[in-house]
Amino acid sequence: MLVVSEETCRKVVTRENAFTAIEGVFAAMAAGEACNFPVIREAIGNADALYGFKSGFDRKNGVLGLKSGGYWPGNEKRGLTNHQSTVFLFDPDTGRPHAMVGGNYLTAIRTAAASAVSIRHLARKDAKVLGMLGAGFQSAFQMRAAAEQRDFERVIGWNLHPEMLPRLAETAAELGLPFEPVSLDRLGAEADVIITITSSFEPILMRGQVKPGTHLACMGTDTKGKQEVDAELVAAATLFTDEVAQSASIGECQHAVAQGLIDKADITPVGAVVNGKHPGRTHDDEITLFDGTGVGLQDLAVAALAAEAARSAGLAAEIDL
Ligand code: NAD
Repeated sequence: MLVVSEETCRKVVTRENAFTAIEGVFAAMAAGEACNFPVIREAIGNADALYGFKSGFDRKNGVLGLKSGGYWPGNEKRGLTNHQSTVFLFDPDTGRPHAMVGGNYLTAIRTAAASAVSIRHLARKDAKVLGMLGAGFQSAFQMRAAAEQRDFERVIGWNLHPEMLPRLAETAAELGLPFEPVSLDRLGAEADVIITITSSFEPILMRGQVKPGTHLACMGTDTKGKQEVDAELVAAATLFTDEVAQSASIGECQHAVAQGLIDKADITPVGAVVNGKHPGRTHDDEITLFDGTGVGLQDLAVAALAAEAARSAGLAAEIDL
């Protein structure tokens, strides 16, 4: 079995190869060649932790496995990341363990790749202003991946906790883009692409604030009850997701579905756009919204990439179980 460390993942998994892996697995899911299995997520009654599994099988690429981990709120005090995860891959022909791969960096890079895939396929080609709603750990990964998809001229951002805004300013500076903190009204009026990546349980951005033609990548809502944008805004947009079942139950679309504003059938897997089965954006004034809920197959895709790249670079340890 290969063992691939977090440090090695950072060396071998780049934004570019993660993008290709995520775009490919979204396409395989939409073509029915890859499927996610039901998610398990439990409060374990220890260290206030939420623990779970996300698993799946990508028949097209021969990738079988699971990501296990969750959220340990007390970790930061111990100098550890609160979100912890590890990916296990198995040989789909024999069930033998194939690799154990650190999942923390991979989670951030695959989540950023998902919104980048949506931007590449759905945002207006002439998008110039990137809007960031959220300034936590994930936001820097998101901004870097998005910046590669269009010729953005500037970044604007809003965050509930203004003391976190320097992260956005520093990331924009690293990308050579000017950054300005703005009100939500300005964010919606000026941004051509908006990424939402917060832990909010209430709508932050409202229907009336977003201009025609905007592409939204809503990436923070991955649990029942979370919400980043107004259900009316969801209902007004052309909707895309990684997986329809998750979008309607734990993703950003859950509230519009529950209120009867939209139906599951209104949500298209973004992989169908990648596969050329759906046209994606059809006019410049259309608001497109990608509901990135985060699926196990994304984790498996980047873990398989990490395992193969680490093996061929001689960076993976090998053990016999
Ligand atoms: P973080 O803790 O580093 O940052 C949290 C962000 O949310 C900050 O911008 C903070 O200001 C904001 N925030 C916190 N409480 C809020 C509230 N009540 N209202 C509005 N904003 C609030 O977290 P992170 O690692 O950057 O992750 C951000 C979110 O993305 C989390 O909700 C996480 O579960 C989610 N996530 C989703 C995926 C996916 O695949 N879709 C993957 C990873 C993380």
